[in-house]
Amino acid sequence: MMPLLHYAEIQAQIDAFDPIAYGKTRNYLDGAVSRLSPYLSRGVISIGDVYQRLKAKGFTLHEMEAFVMELCWREHAQRIWQHHNPQVELRNKQLWIQDYDYLPNEILSAQTGIDAIDQALLGLFKTGYMHNHMRMYVASLVCNHYGAYWKTAAKWMFSLLCDADAASNHLSWQWVCGANAPKVYFANQENINKYAKSNQHQTFLDTSYDKLPQLKIECDWVAPSYAFVPKNPKQLSIDTNLPTYLYTPYHLDPEWRYSTKGNRILFWDLSHWQEYPFTEQNFNWINDLAKLNIPDIQIYVGHWDNLATNLKLEQCYTKEHPLMAAYPIDKDARDWLLPDFEKAPGSFFNFWKKVHKHLSNEQ
Ligand SMILES: Cc1cc2nc3c(=O)[nH]c(=O)nc-3n(C[C@H](O)[C@H](O)[C@H](O)COP(=O)(O)OP(=O)(O)OC[C@H]3O[C@@H](n4cnc5c(N)ncnc54)[C@H](O)[C@@H]3O)c2cc1C
Repeated sequence: MMPLLHYAEIQAQIDAFDPIAYGKTRNYLDGAVSRLSPYLSRGVISIGDVYQRLKAKGFTLHEMEAFVMELCWREHAQRIWQHHNPQVELRNKQLWIQDYDYLPNEILSAQTGIDAIDQALLGLFKTGYMHNHMRMYVASLVCNHYGAYWKTAAKWMFSLLCDADAASNHLSWQWVCGANAPKVYFANQENINKYAKSNQHQTFLDTSYDKLPQLKIECDWVAPSYAFVPKNPKQLSIDTNLPTYLYTPYHLDPEWRYSTKGNRILFWDLSHWQEYPFTEQNFNWINDLAKLNIPDIQIYVGHWDNLATNLKLEQCYTKEHPLMAAYPIDKDARDWLLPDFEKAPGSFFNFWKKVHKHLSNEQ
């Protein structure tokens, strides 16, 4: 799995990051990407933290523009989720679907025959991380050539990723299959060879771009399995004289309300498990990350109504997140590049213009 890092080590990783090299190499498999997404998606750090820290190191917005734009993709997806369920197509229905419920065994067993993709899949199974470009190649192969349903595939990849996040994940799957974009994304072997620095030829993807839309690949369909369902590890011990701070797999900020004493609980809400399951190793990794960074945290696996009977709701706090929206407790704002933005964000590039203007005015 990805390294279990303490907050200070994550800060050091940000400090060691070179956003200028990133701009030049980010599309390459061995490019200077940040690998910060597991800590961003788990809410240990925020996009605002990363931006401010790099700014404090002396990088100008212009110098780090390529990187800030990627952070903005994350923010854009999160803002969409505040208004739109990522399980629902944003624009169109996927045009071509061979199977709604099953996935290609070639993908699940990392035997597509495209070496760079198979290695990236093995890496994902082992570490819970995959480079963005490889995610795009995998998603294109799964939906646009094998014909799997994007939602089935998105759920599978979500379960494996340390940075699993429904906004970034499901909206990206939608983007690749054309459900959230005016066109479908394709990549051929030449493109994969260039960015993965591989040298493979005569594969089914070794063809020209005009042939890719018609390229339908036979596969062996299998049902993805989500056998692991977590159990509550132990009875909560709650001091009702103290406030309760609720953390979630999307909010593990060790700095949040850290100076006040309170009951600190990581709430695994089982009502979302069916749509958003994690593998056992991913579930354990997230719990270990929480315990490392918030030492007195207790873990609760279950449903809101059962948890709520243990709490004084008027003294219970969390951070705003779409999966917590229905629960009647105080929610602190998340940390954004563009705070106080209430509306649905519209197109990425219009949103980016607003973010850019706001950050330029701050300089
Ligand atoms: C099919 C598919 C599934 C994906 N699933 C997820 C997911 O579950 N969780 C997730 O965080 N990202 C997801 N992404 C987006 C992206 O691949 C990852 O954020 C990125 O690869 C993380 O690695 P990094 O931190 O080294 O990225 P870097 O390239 O260093 O980027 C820095 C940060 O910018 C953000 N970012 C970068 N690219 C994107 C993007 N395309 N969309 C949204 N944010 C982005 C991330 O927060 C990332 O940590 C997915 C992309 C695709 C194509």
